[in-house]
Amino acid sequence: MARIQNVRGTYDLFGDAKRKMKKVIATASNVVEKYGFEEIETPIFEFTEVFARNLGDTSDIVTKEMYCFNDKGGESLTLRPEGTAGVVRSFVSNGMQQNLPVKFYYHGPMFRYERPQKGRQRQFTQFGIELLGADTPQADIEVIAMAYEFLEKLGLNGQVTVEINSLGDDISRNAYREKLVTYLKKHFDELSEDSKNRLERNPLRILDSKEECDKAVIENAPRYADSLNEASQAFFSAVLRGLDNLGIKYRVNDRLVRGLDYYSHTVFELTTDKLGAQGTVLAGGRYNGLVEQMGGGNVAGIGWACGVERLAMLLEQNTDLPRPIAVIPVGDDTQDYALRISHKLRLAGFCVEQSYSGNMKKRMIKANKVNACKAVIIGSDELADNMVTLKDLDSGEQKQISLDKLIEELK
Ligand code: ATP
Ligand code: MG
Repeated sequence: MARIQNVRGTYDLFGDAKRKMKKVIATASNVVEKYGFEEIETPIFEFTEVFARNLGDTSDIVTKEMYCFNDKGGESLTLRPEGTAGVVRSFVSNGMQQNLPVKFYYHGPMFRYERPQKGRQRQFTQFGIELLGADTPQADIEVIAMAYEFLEKLGLNGQVTVEINSLGDDISRNAYREKLVTYLKKHFDELSEDSKNRLERNPLRILDSKEECDKAVIENAPRYADSLNEASQAFFSAVLRGLDNLGIKYRVNDRLVRGLDYYSHTVFELTTDKLGAQGTVLAGGRYNGLVEQMGGGNVAGIGWACGVERLAMLLEQNTDLPRPIAVIPVGDDTQDYALRISHKLRLAGFCVEQSYSGNMKKRMIKANKVNACKAVIIGSDELADNMVTLKDLDSGEQKQISLDKLIEELK
């Protein structure tokens, strides 16, 4: 028999945790819709190639973290580990290049085979945005401003830092890469095994390493900023000026490279010190080569994604639930009348709890338990006169009113 338990690194979401996640997603959706972003939903699995080729075949995700399987037709499929590759695949396969820019947002589950710990799961939820077909610094500024506004609306301003860097264009990136390799070769013996392996294939990733021995070497590595050519430097300066202009505080971190192959120019992360090693809550960057790499022509892109669970963990208990109205029938003969009243109130837009059983006292206890604001009490007298007793559960005040006036009174 199958084991009756959830798979390691996966969680059932309900109660407060789920409410907080809903709030994160609703807040993000509201903010990005103001910037003209529209929701897209792409499949949860894609051909393995969509991820393997485009995220970079030396990235952690592709080498260690993907959930790949062969379906019954023998196709190699992968549960999506992130959202960008799928959205860009969709952009290309639906021929959306005609009407640029294209602005999408998405949210949903992502899957990575990682070592589970606080803030690190094997199935987790991301909310993300992609802006395709805009290659000026204004796009970067707007996309970062949007992320910032979103976290502000969640009440997390003051708790997060914007870190930003530029990887420059291909020329700058190659120039830096060369300098970095020369430097790292001199310190080869001090590097971790992983980093030794990355040195030829993907040296930039070493800057991202969380190993202490690597960190010590990286400390004195050449600075990325010194390798940016004039055009890349101008682009980056324009982005920073734009953030200044909007009053968005940031910290330039020239060790920030991000884990995936497709980034160029601006990369950024919003981090908090409240979640230990899992402190990055939102991350993104520019990916000007990705659409072309997927066969969709020369279309620039920029986007970000946030970890919904990580953000939810930062929120106070979500108590802003609607307070219901409790409808309380007293005696068997009032049940139908009570049900009609509940129905009428719900049609008028009220949230109504009508407990299923019990005497008046039990039902009042239940009403308090669901944090009802008012009780509509119906006994046989009320039934006879087409009246109800309306009780304010905060003040304890109560009065009889006619049924016709109930909705008016509750508004
Ligand atoms: P990390 O450095 O923490 O592994 P990452 O660079 O792999 O993050 P991205 O691929 O940029 O993360 O994903 C964007 C965001 O999604 C992260 O900043 C984080 O908030 C969230 N995230 C990534 N992996 C996980 C995971 N395994 N569990 C929960 N949230 C995650
Ligand atoms: Mg990761």
